[in-house]
Amino acid sequence: MSHIFPRHTAMRPPRAKKGDGCYIVDETGKRYFDAGGAAIDCLGHSDEKVTKAIKDQLDKIAFAHTGFFTSDSAEALADRLAEFAPGDLDRVYLVSGGSEATEAAIKLARQYHLERGEGKRARIIARLQSYHGNTLGALSAGGNMWRREPFGPLLVEMSHIDPCYAYRGQRDGESLEDYGLRVANALEAEILKQGPDTVAAFIAEPVVGATMGAVTAVPGYFKRIREICDKYGVLLILDEVMCGMGRTGYLYACEADGIAPDILCIAKGLGAGYQPIGAMLCTKQIYETIEEGTGFFQHGHSYIGHPTAAAAGGAVLSRLVDDGLLERCREMGGKLETALQERFGQNPHVGDLRGRGLFRGIELVADRETKEPFDPSLKINAAIKKAAFARGLMCYPFGGTIDGKRGDHILVAPPFIIEDSHVDEIVDTLDGAIKDALGAQGI
Ligand code: PLP
Repeated sequence: MSHIFPRHTAMRPPRAKKGDGCYIVDETGKRYFDAGGAAIDCLGHSDEKVTKAIKDQLDKIAFAHTGFFTSDSAEALADRLAEFAPGDLDRVYLVSGGSEATEAAIKLARQYHLERGEGKRARIIARLQSYHGNTLGALSAGGNMWRREPFGPLLVEMSHIDPCYAYRGQRDGESLEDYGLRVANALEAEILKQGPDTVAAFIAEPVVGATMGAVTAVPGYFKRIREICDKYGVLLILDEVMCGMGRTGYLYACEADGIAPDILCIAKGLGAGYQPIGAMLCTKQIYETIEEGTGFFQHGHSYIGHPTAAAAGGAVLSRLVDDGLLERCREMGGKLETALQERFGQNPHVGDLRGRGLFRGIELVADRETKEPFDPSLKINAAIKKAAFARGLMCYPFGGTIDGKRGDHILVAPPFIIEDSHVDEIVDTLDGAIKDALGAQGI
């Protein structure tokens, strides 16, 4: 009998015994291509440089508490993250994962307004169908309602506006630009409805990952969001936990939208699975407000600034920017996009193919013309995940793409080291898995 508490109690997953490039090998020797352990694995499972950096750090010191010390690896990582960061992002708060990063961002936004003498601006505005983490604060901000339902009452100072989701939101005859402005302007309406002096921040993913399947914003959307935030002194938090660290072909995903936030969160790809690490970056101005105020960000966890995790993060970042993997992500992303388009572009059950870099989404529909989703009780996404895994592919199918209840998508996020043959393998296996899942329903 196992004493592990699995994600689903009925789960009896195989044991991951060994990593081999893009593959995980289980106890029977079966190989699984890792195209979506939640978009964490950006370097594959046997990166010698990252492993060496971790070992070297362990030989020096594994951990030193930030109540007393900083470390070479944390300093070096913060310097480099800040060096490449867009806009005025300048200070880096290292944490252990994505939820810790967004939770810290929410608290920093609240404390920032307080320290400026603006009183309690507590409200966070987020978007429907968003996911910002599983801690109660991050979950309250998230707009993915089924995840929230069991845990109420959640924090009440949160509200949600529509996401930028052109495939379903754009009206007949409306240009993409007009659509973007219309949905962005909903933020201004919500700020005015709640009262600007009650709103701390707006949080959004530049490219929506898990909950919607690599949905990019239309041109102009985030520029308008930035203007609205500036107009009302509302901080803009960008959650790049999934889409950041090069996944979209840009080191910071928001570079593609031509804007910079006040606070930015990264995780997943920062540790690339080698260590648990995340980071919250904030502007010099926010940092100085705290510095000149109480001088103390009233937040923290035991493992913040962990030297070994920071050493891993530094090595991952170096692989991306010094070893050309960012460019490789862009190049292979283009090839994957073409291959997906060629294979699924005419598929009657594929409504939309989207994404950026090696962050690709496939939205499945019952009817391509009407965009009618599958009946949620068919659990098409779960069946695809199961079929793909049986065929040796890890990807990230999800249900509730449209409104938390209806709609299925598949997120594909392979490592940046993929070769042309891997692109073929991903597309072939996905094709087979989709046919398995739909075939089982007689579709
Ligand atoms: N934010 C986004 C956009 C995510 O996709 C996730 C995880 O999937 C999180 C936050 C939470 O990160 P973690 O699971 O590392 O706590």
